Amino acid sequence: MPRQPGHKRGYAASAAVAFPRVEAFLDAIVGSIATHDMTIVRSGDCFEIASPYGAANLKVEPGILHLSVETDSRPALNRLKHALVGPISFIAASEDLVFEWTGDETGLTPLEDLRVLRVRRASQLTPRVRRIVFTGEDLFRFDREDQLHCRLIFQPRGVVSPRWPALNDRGHIVWPEHGKLATRVYTIRAIDPAQGQITIDFALHEHAGPATRWAVEASEGDIVGIVGPAAEGPKPAQFYVLAGDETGLPGIARILGRLGADVRGVAFIEMDGAHEIQPLVHPPDVEVRWLDRKGAEPGTTALLADAVRSVIWPADLGEAFFWGGCEHRTFRQIHRHLRNDVGLPRQRQVFYSHWHRSLSEEQIVAVGGEAYLPD
Ligand SMILES: Cc1cc2nc3c(=O)[nH]c(=O)nc-3n(C[C@H](O)[C@H](O)[C@H](O)COP(=O)(O)OP(=O)(O)OC[C@H]3O[C@@H](n4cnc5c(N)ncnc54)[C@H](O)[C@@H]3O)c2cc1C
Repeated sequence: MPRQPGHKRGYAASAAVAFPRVEAFLDAIVGSIATHDMTIVRSGDCFEIASPYGAANLKVEPGILHLSVETDSRPALNRLKHALVGPISFIAASEDLVFEWTGDETGLTPLEDLRVLRVRRASQLTPRVRRIVFTGEDLFRFDREDQLHCRLIFQPRGVVSPRWPALNDRGHIVWPEHGKLATRVYTIRAIDPAQGQITIDFALHEHAGPATRWAVEASEGDIVGIVGPAAEGPKPAQFYVLAGDETGLPGIARILGRLGADVRGVAFIEMDGAHEIQPLVHPPDVEVRWLDRKGAEPGTTALLADAVRSVIWPADLGEAFFWGGCEHRTFRQIHRHLRNDVGLPRQRQVFYSHWHRSLSEEQIVAVGGEAYLPD
């Protein structure tokens, strides 16, 4: 456990989790934890983790995964447990893991990173993209170019006193008595914490689940919770390839707007119809190519995968960086190509499966890594 010399943290707990197939899941678990704003240093079978909530440690033994956490504040203890238990339970959903902690217990605690947002204005950016500008207080933690994503908790319309989930001593979410609220992952398209403002672009789709329905109906004053941030942003490079559908577009647009004027590359964006083209700020030598699926169902075309296959990469892949987000099947195809044909090193890419053509987010969580990870 990394510690400042002489620094004793106030709260500590550990768990030994029976996990017969731990080795098979380890890389994916460590990768997933790392995308949640945590840095991990491996030494042998031990992983030392630094997070905004405190310090943690993973240790692998045959059939057992040992977890330990140390934090300075009371609510941070359960939040740090959750930061481990969440990704581990999701990636290894098939393994039905049980987390029993020993050590300090704090009882139910609020989510330390939760902030309350209210809709300031909602407008149709294009026919299929609804832009919602939210206001809230103390949003500085979300203003990170290396952590672009967040999880939104959708409150019912018209609620006066919203109630929020809490975390228990096992690191699990406990929902208020009146029931579970829908949550979904979105990209922070723009943020201005000094003005208390966050902008999210919601891609509207025909099989609308709770998030899309909420966005379609949203009007001034409606409330969501936001937690995070999570998931890596771009890394310094000379040559960028960005690829996404409407759900990847907010991240691509944000990244393009921050790239230096002298970088080269290409951004591929799949959309449906010329009216979906948005004006994007981008460096002169990064080409933006809009790939029109012309009425085909989202997630059914080869447009994005073919476009990425057409890229001529620099000889030195250390100069290149790939960032993307799209439907799961396309994600797997592109991932395979980057690994097998391009040989792009893992640390030169950040790529997420954003949605699954035949699964809602709850179903993806129930299936786990198989519905989310590359093959
Ligand atoms: C890291 C990350 C960042 C993301 N950022 C954004 C973002 O900035 N903007 C954005 O719009 N989305 C984004 N998404 C995707 C978004 O979270 C999903 O599309 C989510 O499933 C939408 O929730 P829902 O309640 O509408 O649909 P769900 O209840 O999850 O699904 C209902 C049905 O809709 C289908 N479906 C889900 N999403 C789509 C879609 N986009 N197109 C067509 N069919 C769909 C499913 O297959 C399912 O059949 C992101 C996802 C991830 C993981």
